[in-house]
Amino acid sequence: MKYISTRGNAPVLSFEEAMLTGLARDGGLYLPETIPQMSAADIAALEGQSYEEAAFRVMWPYLGGAFTEDEFRAIIARAYDGFAHAARAPLVQLAPGHFLLELFHGPTLAFKDFAMQLIGQLFEASLKRSGRRVCIVGATSGDTGSAAIEAFRGLDAVDVFILYPHGRVSEVQRRQMTTPSEANVHALAIDGHFDDAQARVKDMFNDFAFRDAVHLAGVNSINWARVLAQVVYYFTSAVSLGAPHRSVSFTVPTGNFGDIFAGYIAKRMGLPIDRLVVATNRNDILHRCLGTGAYRPAGVAPTISPSMDIEVSSNFERALFCAYGQDSGAVAQLMDELKAGGFNVSQGALEALQESFDSGSATEDETRATIARTRQETGELICPHTAVGVKVAGEHLAPGTPMITLATAHAAKFPDAVEQASGTRPPLPKHMADLYERSERVTRVANDLAAIEDIIRDRTGN
Ligand SMILES: *Cc1c(COP(=O)(O)O)cnc(C)c1O
Repeated sequence: MKYISTRGNAPVLSFEEAMLTGLARDGGLYLPETIPQMSAADIAALEGQSYEEAAFRVMWPYLGGAFTEDEFRAIIARAYDGFAHAARAPLVQLAPGHFLLELFHGPTLAFKDFAMQLIGQLFEASLKRSGRRVCIVGATSGDTGSAAIEAFRGLDAVDVFILYPHGRVSEVQRRQMTTPSEANVHALAIDGHFDDAQARVKDMFNDFAFRDAVHLAGVNSINWARVLAQVVYYFTSAVSLGAPHRSVSFTVPTGNFGDIFAGYIAKRMGLPIDRLVVATNRNDILHRCLGTGAYRPAGVAPTISPSMDIEVSSNFERALFCAYGQDSGAVAQLMDELKAGGFNVSQGALEALQESFDSGSATEDETRATIARTRQETGELICPHTAVGVKVAGEHLAPGTPMITLATAHAAKFPDAVEQASGTRPPLPKHMADLYERSERVTRVANDLAAIEDIIRDRTGN
């Protein structure tokens, strides 16, 4: 199994190399050259299996022998051991034909734990074997950073630096990043938006001297191994609702397009997915682009679903690469145009995108109203990101095809917004009850590449 860059100008890599590298050296994102197929019989055989066994069967063809079967099973077992629910990703019914896939039973209460816990174990197994050490740098709008820190804290061969936008993450998210006391964990609060943090991380990857000196590795949602981990729960949830014998649709609260792109990969592998619905908050560039083909960032507005306050949606590049028939030259040109303000997707590529994806968006008022209504009608307290999904899913229900909306975070991660909307304050689960008493450790930095690189060189002794 070989991995190629969306921009066509970087070395072809193995799974392990692509995982350790993150962003390709030409600025592109790695993708498998071909998508492995699962037959209807393979999919049907997932029924009744544990989450871990399904994860093994779905992901194994992508590894290209990077680990033995036994090693990979052990990695998966360790990754999901700390989840608070035996099913890992349980489904609950919200209304006739509408289901919630609860992805918040991991250690940081958001779906990013599914990918990050796995990647932590994959990195550790790989680095131990080679005796190497890496420096992980990531940008976060809140949930990625806490998930990364939780997955890498205390590991021997890894330093982890997380950039988050100062004052723009929830208190629970911030405390999850600033309270771990392990010496290999470094939280950096940058003066800027998430897009600034993400841009500085991309800059560091493009500064090859720095990149090589500190052995930079990326675990943002651009990392293929993260997308791959997320493919699994599309299979397990669809199978529990009758796939491959019937189709299902998914609605996915979307920011960086990583989670929904995993759904697209599941569909390409053979899972009968009817519609993949992109749900955005009022930062709706993806919704606008899927409607008109025009992708032109207009500035990020803060919302109560901050993990989706994104206008430069990095994984969308992978979807474009597929929509353009793997034409890396066309993708590289679009990304150049984006630097100059934006681009227009060609008619053919737009039609290809619209074949798989629908979209919708929710205003702040609609998001709050959905939290309140869901509480009244079902007793469930949902987080604001999930509420964006539930609102948009409601516009795409089709008789006979179950809709699964991804519940991307626990309501307790966003207690103020949820209480304001529903009148009920969601309590933190027991294992986190003392989060507000732990002491914090964070370094404030300017939105300046050199300043950030200096801190990282200094702390890693490079
Ligand atoms: C990251 C995140 C999203 C968006 O996921 P993408 O893969 O970036 O599209 C949605 N909801 C929550 C709670 C998140 O943490």
